[in-house]
Amino acid sequence: VPVKELVKKAEPELFCKGKIGKAEEELVKKAAAKLIKMPIEEITFFCIEKKSMDARKKNNIQYIYRVSLSGSKEQKRVKQYGKNDVSYEKDCVIKNIPADERCKNGRQSNQTSDPKEQVFQNGNDTKKTVIAGFGPAGMFAALELARAGKQPVVLERGLEVEKRQDKVDAFWKGKGLDPECNVQFGEGGAGTFSDGKLNTLVKDPSGRNKQVLRTFVEFGAPEEILYLQKPHIGTDVLKKVVKNIREEVLSLGGTIYFGAKMEHIIIKDGKVQEVMATIDGQKKNFLCDALILAIGHSARDTFSMLKESGIKMEQKAFAVGVRIEHPQEMIGRSQYGEWYTKLPTAEYKVTHQTAQKRGVYSFCMCPGGYVVNASSEEGMLAVNGMSYSGRDSANANSAIVVTVDPSDFGSADVLAGVAFQRKLEKAAYEASNGKIPVQLFGDFLANRCSTGFGSFMPQMKGGYDFANVRAILPVVIGDAIAEGIQAFDRRIKGYGREDAILSGVESRTSSPVRMVRNEALESNIQGLYPCGEGAGYAGGITSAAMDGIRVAQMLLL
Ligand code: FAD
Repeated sequence: VPVKELVKKAEPELFCKGKIGKAEEELVKKAAAKLIKMPIEEITFFCIEKKSMDARKKNNIQYIYRVSLSGSKEQKRVKQYGKNDVSYEKDCVIKNIPADERCKNGRQSNQTSDPKEQVFQNGNDTKKTVIAGFGPAGMFAALELARAGKQPVVLERGLEVEKRQDKVDAFWKGKGLDPECNVQFGEGGAGTFSDGKLNTLVKDPSGRNKQVLRTFVEFGAPEEILYLQKPHIGTDVLKKVVKNIREEVLSLGGTIYFGAKMEHIIIKDGKVQEVMATIDGQKKNFLCDALILAIGHSARDTFSMLKESGIKMEQKAFAVGVRIEHPQEMIGRSQYGEWYTKLPTAEYKVTHQTAQKRGVYSFCMCPGGYVVNASSEEGMLAVNGMSYSGRDSANANSAIVVTVDPSDFGSADVLAGVAFQRKLEKAAYEASNGKIPVQLFGDFLANRCSTGFGSFMPQMKGGYDFANVRAILPVVIGDAIAEGIQAFDRRIKGYGREDAILSGVESRTSSPVRMVRNEALESNIQGLYPCGEGAGYAGGITSAAMDGIRVAQMLLL
């Protein structure tokens, strides 16, 4: 359906955000009816399943819809149009099903009057499934188990999202880092202060991707994420969803300890027996029949403990680089031409192969977003990107990264990738005395510190100061980024402008290790299940959540 037609006829505000309003639905229904030559009055069920955009031709931008419909004379139509082209899925609208109906196996919820009180009621006297980490992987594993009648015990080193927000705000205002509760650690995991993009490239024959999106909607995300090709919810909506999932897990009898860091694992006869954690300064043991390790990619101290405990891990490639900011308006004009104000905040994806055969690419692009100080260790600094659901900041930002593999790490140690990240993060911290180091692209090319901004200012959470960002990076990576950004300028006008703002260092793109697991998703230690991004089995919120469900389902078999 041409955008021109939609902008004229559909509710413009809803349309701009990608949300489907009544007028737009009617237009699409009409177009679908015309396509299959079915009188519109014959349609008895209609649902938009996916909405994506084709902006290759700026003068004829189109929205592409995939719809399901059925009609009063459907048998005839199916025959006429080909049975593969029509689907009859009727459950695409999420209904608010009461919690006990959702609960499988008819199990009754044992909610106390105040779910928070329950946190310390359940003891560790019987063996339970323990989940370390309450990011997307741990959260969805906990929910799946709780809904199946299990009562998992969750240990999360950071705090509940409300308290975590205060900690992170204070850090961004210069009040010092809490190494246990920050942008990487705490309820909701690394994704809580994120752009909240929910798309994934992981194939979904099992339906877990849909399950994740439906769960998000059930716990407070807007329904449009079910049909948009690139669903996004922003950090504000994510925080609500995370809190609601926590309450559901608690209401089903799960136990969640915050400020609870898993410190040791007790293994006997090749099987995990107990988990030792520090909770509010006190040591506590948890007997367990299974341990799901959903610790994310930044738990470097925990990686060391796991290595010492004999958990089999391998080095893994990841990517490092910088974040780049441009005025959002420039990106909008380049992607959509004159339509940019009428369409959702424009995104981009760019890749380039350098003369030295290094791949340079954009990663975790945040339209209308903020660059955030996403550090989690004292004396080290890492950046990332975040946005609110409105995606309405003045700048677009994206990581521009280069893949690094074990040959770059300079050691065969399984944690050599961690050491490589730390070296860059330490250099970034020292470059601007603990503030985010920033540099204009013109100065990045000239390899010198910047002294002032150009025609636009950074949009950042956390203090920043000028430095030579290029000097933080290994020469080959700096050269590759310089070449890549110049190449991207040929695709997006102005991308390589001299006053584009670079900041560093982008070092937490994915896990530097993979924890080996077998077909039963178990590690070399019986009862220990590596899960999510930190274990090397996911990249992003949705795929981590999918892996959490997968591991939980394996335990339920
Ligand atoms: P995590 O989310 O990292 O969760 C692991 C949890 O384990 C943490 O809460 C941590 O505190 C806890 N933990 C660690 N060690 C221990 C221990 N010893 N004991 C107890 N608890 C422990 N992805 C997207 O798909 N879309 C985006 O828009 C996006 N934007 C991002 C923006 C930012 C700023 C960041 C930092 C990340 C972003 N990501 C995004 C990546 C995404 O957040 C991760 O891929 C995802 O959160 C991984 O999920 P996970 O559950 O595997 O690990």
